[in-house]
Amino acid sequence: MKQLRNYTEEAVRLFVDKWIVEADVCQCDSCKLDVMAIMLNNMEPHYVVTDQGALYAQMSDFDPQHKADLMTNMGLAVQVVKNRPKHTRE
Ligand SMILES: [Zn+2]
Repeated sequence: MKQLRNYTEEAVRLFVDKWIVEADVCQCDSCKLDVMAIMLNNMEPHYVVTDQGALYAQMSDFDPQHKADLMTNMGLAVQVVKNRPKHTRE
C-alpha cells in the first residue's frame, strides 16, 4: 500500500534517541518530543509517496546536505531543551 511519508520526520524519529544521549539531554518522553518538535518546526518537510517500510536504515543513507541540515538543527534543538527543560531534573 502506498503511503505519504515525511522523510525529515522519519529521520528525526530514527535518530533522536541517539542524539539526546550524545548531547546529554534528559531522555524522558517530554524532552525527547520537545527536541523533535523544535527540529520539525525549523526544518522543511520532505514528503514522498512510498510503499517501502523504513525509509532509512542508517545515517549513511542520507545525502550529505540533508545530513548536515539534520545535524545543525539537532544541535540547536538540544540546546533549547537543555537550557529550558519543562520540568525539574530529578
Ligand atoms: Zn525530561
